[in-house]
Amino acid sequence: MRYDVVIIGSGVAGLYTAIALPKELKVLVINKSNPWECNTYYAQGGVTTAYNDEDIASHVEDTLDAGAGMCNTDAVQLMSESSQGVIRDLIHRGFVFDTDEEGNLLYTKEAAHSRSRILHAGGDATGRHLHFFLLNQNPHPMLSDTTVVDLLIEEGRCCGVETVTRGKRKIILADNVVIASGGVGSLYEYHTNASTISGDIHGICIEKGIELESMEMMQFHPTVFVANNWARKQLLSEALRGEGAHVVDENGYRFLFEYDPRGELAPRDIVSRAIFDYKQRSAKQVYLSCEDFESEYFKERFPNIYKSLNDLGFHLPKERVPISPAFHYAVGGIKTDIHGAIPDVKGLYAAGESASTGVHGANRLASNSLLEGLVFSKKVAESILVHSEHGCSENFKISNEPLELEGDKEKKDQLRRIMWDNVSIVRTPEGLQKAYEAIAKMLSEDVGRLLRLRLLTARSIVVSAQKRSESIGVHFITQGIKE
Ligand SMILES: Cc1cc2nc3c(=O)[nH]c(=O)nc-3n(C[C@H](O)[C@H](O)[C@H](O)COP(=O)(O)OP(=O)(O)OC[C@H]3O[C@@H](n4cnc5c(N)ncnc54)[C@H](O)[C@@H]3O)c2cc1C
Repeated sequence: MRYDVVIIGSGVAGLYTAIALPKELKVLVINKSNPWECNTYYAQGGVTTAYNDEDIASHVEDTLDAGAGMCNTDAVQLMSESSQGVIRDLIHRGFVFDTDEEGNLLYTKEAAHSRSRILHAGGDATGRHLHFFLLNQNPHPMLSDTTVVDLLIEEGRCCGVETVTRGKRKIILADNVVIASGGVGSLYEYHTNASTISGDIHGICIEKGIELESMEMMQFHPTVFVANNWARKQLLSEALRGEGAHVVDENGYRFLFEYDPRGELAPRDIVSRAIFDYKQRSAKQVYLSCEDFESEYFKERFPNIYKSLNDLGFHLPKERVPISPAFHYAVGGIKTDIHGAIPDVKGLYAAGESASTGVHGANRLASNSLLEGLVFSKKVAESILVHSEHGCSENFKISNEPLELEGDKEKKDQLRRIMWDNVSIVRTPEGLQKAYEAIAKMLSEDVGRLLRLRLLTARSIVVSAQKRSESIGVHFITQGIKE
């Protein structure tokens, strides 16, 4: 089986790449479970765009500020300059963003944006609407329930992937491979991510000597209801705080102003740490209160959150919801250039949350990730159309390394706890060393390939965090011993 392009992942990055590749090419989109089980589907708040040409400078500045001096300025500039174009493209293709009664686009504001510039769809169901739309636009075949377990690399070029579908392993050859496999959520005990998101392709990249960048930069969302029974915890979108929800303790006190004069509108890492610290210091429960919203408006503007929380027994907007921070977004990832190409490996690209284009630096500005996925996946498609070459051999054999071994499930859970306890919102040198040793021990044992890939990715997060002794952006490290 040989393709022109194999795309690993069917979230925004994978699908928008696919859509930008002509039907005449032989393209295959692969996803791990069903096409919907991806972070794109769960996105709530919206997609950022420069409001108009004059707003580009301000959007760039907000993004650079959030990134704490670590962004790739060229990539940020490119993303903002391309933003109106990708939004126009979606609209021309027929995508419907929320509008007012006169048909004007409705823009909302989220933390650390200096103006309203976030478009949304279906109220707070932007991801679901966008994902459904992109799935319908995709002209290429899709292979679901299929996990990529290896990249086929020969003499500095990528020649395809090894996959497993319901236990059956297969080699799929391709002139170009696009990694659009998302972030690393399942490495953490508490996270908001889809169940398919486990950083295994990052692990393969480590094995192949492909550089990962800024892996210490992992973003935690401050307002998550973590007391449900599923692995994926229920996010309460940033847009709620942007539009007037308050973070309060059990006495109704808005303690965030003790930490930052912007209160609820401070960047999410500041809010996450404030909640984490306040909970520890005061031993009080922390809540998100939406009681200032008018009920009918709330139901219409946030139908998704309204329903999900109602199903969990909370009657919004009048009833407050207990919250905690949880892992949310991988800022770091597989290093690419600003066209999405992976240096030193021909025919290999990455886009979306799996990639590190440098646009987020040390922290991601809210709702810049769907935009990043759209802009850079388009760049990937453009690069493929210009640079695609044949030239691979067909000498690839299915590996016989077992994918799973008995005991892996318990070790996966152990890994999630280690990462949450030691490599999350507040890090210490002792905690990081403890995590490093526990991961090294598991790596030295007999484990299946899928767990090994997760362990490699987790270790890269720990090692990157150990190398950065100063706090910056989402990486917060104190010298004290963490209990
Ligand atoms: C709850 C939630 C709310 C969010 N809200 C917003 C928001 O409002 N605005 C915003 O900009 N961002 C938001 N984000 C972030 C944003 O949704 C993601 O960063 C973005 O959707 C990632 O898109 P992606 O295409 O890179 O990856 P994903 O959409 O996560 O897709 C990854 C794909 O890769 C596949 N895959 C993974 N590993 C393998 C493998 N080994 N083999 C085969 N397939 C594989 C998966 O099956 C999946 O299809 C939110 C995220 C979450 C979790």
